[in-house]
Amino acid sequence: MISHLDDPLSILIRRKIEDYSEYAYKKNGRSHLVRKLGSILCKEAEILIRRAKLDPPFDPLKIKRGRLKFELISDAKRNAHIPTRGGFRIEIKHKRTRNLDDLDFRARATIAHEMAHTFFYDINSLPPKPIGVVSSKKSQWELESICYRIGRTILMPSFSISRLLTQSPKIRKGSLHKIGLLMNRYKVSSDIVAWRMIKDLELWSSCFVKNRVKGEGSDIKFTRIPIPLKNSSAKELSLIKLNRIIYREHHLYPHLLRAVASPKSIVRDTLNINGASFDLESRVVAVNTIATLISVEGSHRGQRQMTLEKFEATQS
Ligand SMILES: [Zn+2]
Repeated sequence: MISHLDDPLSILIRRKIEDYSEYAYKKNGRSHLVRKLGSILCKEAEILIRRAKLDPPFDPLKIKRGRLKFELISDAKRNAHIPTRGGFRIEIKHKRTRNLDDLDFRARATIAHEMAHTFFYDINSLPPKPIGVVSSKKSQWELESICYRIGRTILMPSFSISRLLTQSPKIRKGSLHKIGLLMNRYKVSSDIVAWRMIKDLELWSSCFVKNRVKGEGSDIKFTRIPIPLKNSSAKELSLIKLNRIIYREHHLYPHLLRAVASPKSIVRDTLNINGASFDLESRVVAVNTIATLISVEGSHRGQRQMTLEKFEATQS
């Protein structure tokens, strides 16, 4: 029988977390250690991508790990990472293009994600051997979520964002316009920009939410897709207030209707709830899809400053 101690995450937790002990495992729980392992692997990915290139857009296939060679196969039946005698074959379903810079955002994200999976292989022997055996759905899900995070880190490494912040301090405040600028610079989707700036690095005290538009005229309805991205550092200002904006139709509805009415522009509103003010920005981003960024910066300066200082401390 496979024990949870033999799954890839448990093995890497024991190998990579210096002060790991059974005691810490019991005291802090597994999810704490899984998060810590995620941060360690992201740091390793950062170092590798930084060695390969200093300026965006970043090419995940340029990562150098020992003598590993990476080969890209596009137009494949599925997305996969397959150990080979030289390293890995990265297969993606996307169509073939000549150069990685021309690949669309989704293809680049897929490659970065599959590259992230290679961090769960022993690369001392060739072909690389998988570390451990995934023993449960939960452990599979934890592994996937770390791979998504590593993938985002490869495409938008924090050393690069940190440099950008020094050059253009205005990037510190989230806006839909800045999401667009970062998408162009890093060649990633708006979702990846939002994940990085809001969730991973907690630089923007914002919430990013997308809505599908259904119906026409006076019978328009909006359905949220999939989960809104929220910043845990915005806790102090109470996520409850943010939730009220996101989940209660009467707060967001008139604003979204205005966005539908002017599909080519960004519509802006300010909402006041119990003395806290929120900046709302929305824009039609795809057929029947509206992206909304809700920011709480203005009313939240002390907390934001702390977040920025914490971020910069991790960069030095
Ligand atoms: Zn995966």
